[in-house]
Amino acid sequence: IPFSHHDRATLHHQTKGRVPIGIRQRRMRTLVTGGAGFVGSHLVDKLMARGDEVIVIDNFFTGRKENVLHHLDNPRFELIRHDVVQPILLEVDQIYHLACPASPVHYKYNPIKTIISFTNVIGTLNMLGLAKRVKARFLITSTSEVYGDPLEHPQKESYWGHVNPIGVRSCYDEGKRMAETLTMDYYRNEGVEVRIARIFNTYGPRMCLNDRRVVSNFVSQALRKEPMTVYGDGKQTRSFQYVSDLVDGLMALMGGEHIGPFNLGNPGEFTMLELARVYMYSLCNYIGHGPILDRIMQKPWCTGVTLLSNTTEVPWRTKVVKDTIDSNVAVEFRENTADDPQMRKPDISKAKALLNWEPKVPLRDGLPRMALDFRNRILKEEQDSIT
Ligand code: NAD
Ligand code: UDP
Ligand code: UDP
Repeated sequence: IPFSHHDRATLHHQTKGRVPIGIRQRRMRTLVTGGAGFVGSHLVDKLMARGDEVIVIDNFFTGRKENVLHHLDNPRFELIRHDVVQPILLEVDQIYHLACPASPVHYKYNPIKTIISFTNVIGTLNMLGLAKRVKARFLITSTSEVYGDPLEHPQKESYWGHVNPIGVRSCYDEGKRMAETLTMDYYRNEGVEVRIARIFNTYGPRMCLNDRRVVSNFVSQALRKEPMTVYGDGKQTRSFQYVSDLVDGLMALMGGEHIGPFNLGNPGEFTMLELARVYMYSLCNYIGHGPILDRIMQKPWCTGVTLLSNTTEVPWRTKVVKDTIDSNVAVEFRENTADDPQMRKPDISKAKALLNWEPKVPLRDGLPRMALDFRNRILKEEQDSIT
């Protein structure tokens, strides 16, 4: 008789992560679809560190082999190039279903067939079919976009949303709504154990450099010494979550007893202009580069930024990252896209109460970590293009 999720969690807790010899064959076997992507690869890192056997399915549409390269030699890890739109037979205990192109670039690029609608509907159906056959627990990564341009603020899970069904974003919003519907139907009609996460904007290392999401745009633009592009008047708001917090939330949800949906996001809310300022500010603060910081903070778009206390020079960091900050950094206003939600902020009281989870990394600490990763990748890209 296989161990239940509860048994395994208790065992793991009792043994403080050390698995007794007789039980080694019974490791949790975990499937992560989209595991070579941004969020998926961080999740894989944590599952591998816990001792799971991990199978990744990815078609590398937006993901990269480099993101999981460090696990390829590990016998507990397996990477399968596969499109979830096609059925697949595997034996697993739990499924984190992340596969889905998640950035706005793809809305414009054949949204119907290859990309978003198909992956969300047929891909999710296949993974639910797999979960049903092997009696695996299934977690779907839905999105705050199911709330559309919300009329309720902050958004609670009980809010049904305000989505334009015929707009350019609908393939993503409605695709994820359909994926949630399928998930609940498999729960009610087929008895599949399911979990639903509604993820709010998440950022961190390994994000696509050119996915045109706002954080990756600002970070890479500033590193390339280009103006940061602010769409519209820059007063629309978002709440940005650091990726390690999200991974903790996903694992708490999978391991817990509640189906959800659960909002997983950081409630700290920022306008796009504030994001640009906090980025520059936190980077200078992290590097400890006071003089450059002073110059940047005199710019008109930086008015109103609250200064953090420690801005003294730290020599070793300065050496590493001096070229990361352009003291002439500027913002450039561009026309906004249609149906852009004016505000977004999660109400996470449900996840706090039932999953005992809340995010820990504030924007000002997460942005510099992401900037250093982006800097190294941009440098490598530049070197590769020369050679
Ligand atoms: P990502 O694009 O980095 O990762 C998605 C992964 O899925 C990629 O590796 C891609 O190659 C793979 N993939 C796409 N279509 C596939 C298919 N048909 N078959 C197999 N693999 C496929 O995006 P991410 O930011 O890591 O997002 C992961 C999940 O989280 C997605 O489901 C996304 O909708 C959800 N989400 C992310 C955010 C965010 O801010 N990052 C917010 C809300 C929801
Ligand atoms: N499926 C899969 N792997 C499995 C089991 C099912 O990919 O191990 C796919 C299957 O091909 C089908 C979908 O999941 O397209 C839904 O499966 P389900 O058994 O619920 O429906 P049915 O096959 O009876 O239509
Ligand atoms: N945005 C921006 N500059 C950019 C990219 C995006 O000002 O270079 C804005 C965009 O209009 C939106 C917000 O940033 O209001 C978040 O956009 P993103 O695509 O990152 O996420 P989503 O709209 O899916 O929340």
